[in-house]
Amino acid sequence: MIKQSSITQQNVNPDGGAQIMGMQIEGYLGKRLNNNECRWLQKAVEHNPAMMERFRQRDSHPRCIVPWFGEYPGKLLTGMALTYRMSMDADTLAAGNALVEELASVQGEDGYLGPHPKDRRFNGPMHEDLTKVFGWHGNVLWDVWGHYHVIYGLYQWYKVTGNRQALTIACHAADSVYTYFIKEGRPFASAGEPDKNLTIGHALLLLYRETGEKTYLETALAVVEEWKTAGCGNWLEAALAGLDFYQMELPRWEALHAVMTLSELYRLTGDITYYRAFEAIWKSIRRTDRHNDGGFSTGEGAAGDPYQFGAIENCCTVAWMAMSSDYLKLSHDSKVADELELSFFNAALGSLMQDDYWFTYDVPMNGIREGSNTYLAWQTVEGGQGLSCCQANGNRGLSQVVEWAAFADATGLYLNFYGPCRLDAQTPSGAGITVQETTDYPVTGRITITLEPEKPEYFSLRLRIPFWSKNTQLSVNGELQNGVQKGSYYTISREWRSGDTLTLELDMTAHYWIGDGEVKGCTSLYHGPILLVLDTGASGTDVNNCVFERAALEQMTVTGGEDGYWLTAQATNLAGEIVRLVDFADGGRNGAWYISWLNIQNAPALWDNDEIWNAR
Ligand SMILES: [Zn+2]
Repeated sequence: MIKQSSITQQNVNPDGGAQIMGMQIEGYLGKRLNNNECRWLQKAVEHNPAMMERFRQRDSHPRCIVPWFGEYPGKLLTGMALTYRMSMDADTLAAGNALVEELASVQGEDGYLGPHPKDRRFNGPMHEDLTKVFGWHGNVLWDVWGHYHVIYGLYQWYKVTGNRQALTIACHAADSVYTYFIKEGRPFASAGEPDKNLTIGHALLLLYRETGEKTYLETALAVVEEWKTAGCGNWLEAALAGLDFYQMELPRWEALHAVMTLSELYRLTGDITYYRAFEAIWKSIRRTDRHNDGGFSTGEGAAGDPYQFGAIENCCTVAWMAMSSDYLKLSHDSKVADELELSFFNAALGSLMQDDYWFTYDVPMNGIREGSNTYLAWQTVEGGQGLSCCQANGNRGLSQVVEWAAFADATGLYLNFYGPCRLDAQTPSGAGITVQETTDYPVTGRITITLEPEKPEYFSLRLRIPFWSKNTQLSVNGELQNGVQKGSYYTISREWRSGDTLTLELDMTAHYWIGDGEVKGCTSLYHGPILLVLDTGASGTDVNNCVFERAALEQMTVTGGEDGYWLTAQATNLAGEIVRLVDFADGGRNGAWYISWLNIQNAPALWDNDEIWNAR
């Protein structure tokens, strides 16, 4: 058992320094994010009145709802907080504040903030009708998990907007969890579903860091201690024993939120053991369960095989990206940001349907995309067509770019995001700095970066050089730089002044991932961070006979904006036909089947042989 007395707040710089406040992305990506913010996120509560009604009427008119129903407002509010950090849009601020008001109005006097009636809350059985409909049995209410998301969302909203009411409600909800389990002597394991319900420690440690309230720390430590109970995951010990995540007792995706408790414990204690366990799990997932599109999970959890087909649930990728953002801030490893870019530009963006409103549940490597409004209709209720796990979580997958796009530590500013944008960040001294990127990246690799610091300041600017960019050119105010290495940060230490300009030319030569297992003999093709797919609705050729030769792919022309695609590549196949390949995010956008594991002859491996990632 970890001794509370050994823990002091802020042993380790919690967020790796200052955060971005303000990030406007232009072009294709910016338009889709803005559409999702205006069409879905700002309207989500209004379009789904049943969400808060189920909370409000939990005792007066209890209804049959899925066990995880309580997570929805928390997942939505998290997306709103991240989005607001980017857009600073008044309507998003109003929507988030309104949701906080709603949550305040439905909170129990004891702080309870879920949708389940008194006789079931926290560790009671699920509604009997679910057994009839789905054949589910036992204690499968995910009520503590729901509180995890609601507390996390409220905390994030408070951190971004300063809304004190959000923090007050979050603390009150945490108090109810403390009282029910710790004070009244119930084990968390009694709630069942430990990979969901035993994630709560993560949110409570964030609240502890904010408030110094000891009962939150006590609760979180008790939860981590309970992981050791038979059937409760044992993630910490299993990681330290060298097990891969997929070999652990409970390798479902929800457990990633439990694992994030370890990074917070490291921040609080400085105890490297927590960091090692957290890092081992991250590296394990990247090596065995992160698919070619940057998505995580096979059938909602780790399977130990990135080539295996099976649903890649959007919620799983969202959790993987949250964990990756967390790991990036601790590791300061540019390749983690490469991972985030891969996941964002492919799997996360690919989860957003073409109307920019609905998200999918499954983002397959080969297959079709279906909106949650049809695929997850079984989760929804009257008055809440958008009330499903992946729909509520979808915006977070996009907007969490603000967490990793740039950050500062005591010595420097790390720039990770490339694309046409304007970022308002802070220098190591805490002064404001605007970073302007002029580019059509990822169509081409040429990026012009202009810095506008509030005042001249000496610091190290660290630019992410992606692992796939073999020959990178960089100049600072016209002066060519030497020794730019792929898969690392390139550091320039100098006094930066307003108007200083860097020109970065990334190497967009095609690169490949050679398949194995179920996709043995097939290869994935990348243009920079973008996975290219054959869309049977857009390729204009017989895909069954579509074979490519590597040499021809290296001659393909890539253009942006054609027919509304982010990017398209014209490639010649062995039959001499011109075939159009498109970016993964747009794959199957008209409901057609798409394929990301292609038939390519003589392709060299980059991904699985790459020396930079082979180290365990
Ligand atoms: Zn989901």
